[in-house]
Parts: sequence; C-alpha cells; structure tokens
Amino acid sequence: MENAPAVIDAEYKVINFEDYAMSTDGVIRQVKLIQEVMAKTMKDNEHYGVIPGCGKKPSLLKPGAEKLCMTFRLAPYYEIKKSELPKNHREYEIVCTLKHISTGVIVGQGVGSCSTMEGKFRFRTEAKICPECGVEAIIKGKKEYGGGWLCFKKKNGCGAKWNDGDPAIEDQADGKSEHDNPADYYNTVLKMAKKRAHVDAVLTATAASDIFTQDIEDMPEVIVPKAEPASKAKTEKPKTEPKPSKTETPKEDKPFMKSQADKIIEFAHHELGLTEGEAKAVIEWYLANNDHGGRTYKAGQALINGFMTIYARYNKVMMEAEPEPHDA
Ligand SMILES: [Zn+2]
Repeated sequence: MENAPAVIDAEYKVINFEDYAMSTDGVIRQVKLIQEVMAKTMKDNEHYGVIPGCGKKPSLLKPGAEKLCMTFRLAPYYEIKKSELPKNHREYEIVCTLKHISTGVIVGQGVGSCSTMEGKFRFRTEAKICPECGVEAIIKGKKEYGGGWLCFKKKNGCGAKWNDGDPAIEDQADGKSEHDNPADYYNTVLKMAKKRAHVDAVLTATAASDIFTQDIEDMPEVIVPKAEPASKAKTEKPKTEPKPSKTETPKEDKPFMKSQADKIIEFAHHELGLTEGEAKAVIEWYLANNDHGGRTYKAGQALINGFMTIYARYNKVMMEAEPEPHDA
C-alpha cells in the first residue's frame, strides 16, 4: 500500500478546493481549458454534437454546458419573464446570469426564449388511420389501379381498400393541425427557454462560442410526442430498426485502456491539482486494489467516476444556492 497516500492526497486537495480556485480573469483567459475538457471528458453526442443542418460546428448540449459550468465553477441564476399570448399560448424569456462561485463575480449572461407558438409545440402532424386495422398506413391508390385509398401493406397496413370520396377516409384530418391545449407545453417551453439561456450564457462566459454553437434544434430530450391514436402496430416497424451503435458495445470485459489513463491524468491534473506522477500513482494503486477485476476497463471507469463524484459533490455543495425557476 505504498501509494495509498496519493489517494488521501487527492481527497485532501478536493477538501481544500478553494486553494485551487481560479480567479475570474483565469476563468475568462483559459479558453484552452474548454478544448481540453471537451477532448478529455466530454463525449460526442452526449455533451456536444453536430446537429444535422446546423453546420459543422458542434452544438453545445445541456450536459456539456453543465460540465463546463462545473469545470469553471459557475453557478447559474435565472430571471424569468412570462408573457401570455392569445389563445392560451405563452412565451418565456429568460436571462441566465453566471456567477463565479468562489468570488461571486458575474462572468456572463445569456438569454433564451421559447413559446408554445413555436411550430414543434403548436402543431402536430396527423396521418389518416385505417378504420380496419388502426394503422397509419393509408395512401392514395394509384390511378392505373383504380385510384381510391389503400391501407398499404408495406407500411404495416392490412391491405383494405376504399373508393374515392369514402368519408371513412376522407373525413379524417391529415397534415398539420394545432394542438388544442398549449398549456400542455408550458413546462416544456419553460425548460427549453431556461436551457437556451443557460447554454447561451455558458458560451458567452467561457468564450466557448469559438468552439461550440448553440443547439437550437436539439430538442428530442424534452419533446414527448403526443400519443398517436390506435396505432399500436407502429411500434413494430420492420427493417428500420437502428443498428446498435459502436458506443453500445459492452466494454466491461475489456482491459484498462490508455485513453482512460489519459482522461484520469488530465482531470486529476487540471481539476484536482495533482501532478502527472501523482495521478499515475493513484491509477496504479487503484488498478492493483479494486473490486472490478484489477486492470480492467470497468475499474478505469470506476476510478473516473470516483474522481468526478468527489468533484461533483464539491460543486453541488457550492451550487446549492441556485434558485429553482418556478412557474410564477
Ligand atoms: Zn388497415
């Protein structure tokens, strides 16, 4: 257990973290750190990602913005302005102010707004539903086959047919229609506005906009589409099943990887103030003394999580003061 003191050392330094806190100037100066954080601790498609149609610059996603805040020790404060719009629609405009936790200095502000009038909250797309099987598989029959309507088998339909003008089909709405209750989305748009303001503020405060763009369209995590009526069969789409992505490959059985060591050393160095030698000593000690099979990938992840957890716990204590936005 010769190297055990290094671990105690690491914790000691976490406990006395204020000794290592950066000045506000330091926060602003160290744009380079963002690149390092991004390269070493942020994962593509989790913390940032290239959004189709938004250029090649990666968009900073909410978890990435939070990570950068954690790294730079910035706490967000929100001012929320609510506007009631006609027909029960609502808009939120939010100003996010980022304060440097240890000095209380304001390092940046960002704005974000969102309203239930935005297309994705205002409208839903409706498709005609087969009265026989309940599947959204109705297509216009080709003229050469007599026109009419068809429940298309290739779209999981049942093959039923109708003549042109049949009210069972033609009386059904299709295309865009307005949601009847904008209030269903009040909370979603509030969160969205808050997120936009936060990301905007982080980009401003950390000068990270050179690296990232705002993720204007990355809404999937909050938009829950309205349940579609009677289309149970839709869930069993054939063929279109996504291929398992590379990131899903189980890594548990793999050996400890150099990339893990690099990540730990970088994190321990920048965030915990350890030298490379100290960090390596911690790693070696841990690989020899863990319950995850020794020098395994799993052990590496546990060590990374351990460092992160200590660090996150520290930051959580510091951020407890953050006011929750409320629907005032
Ligand atoms: Zn059908």
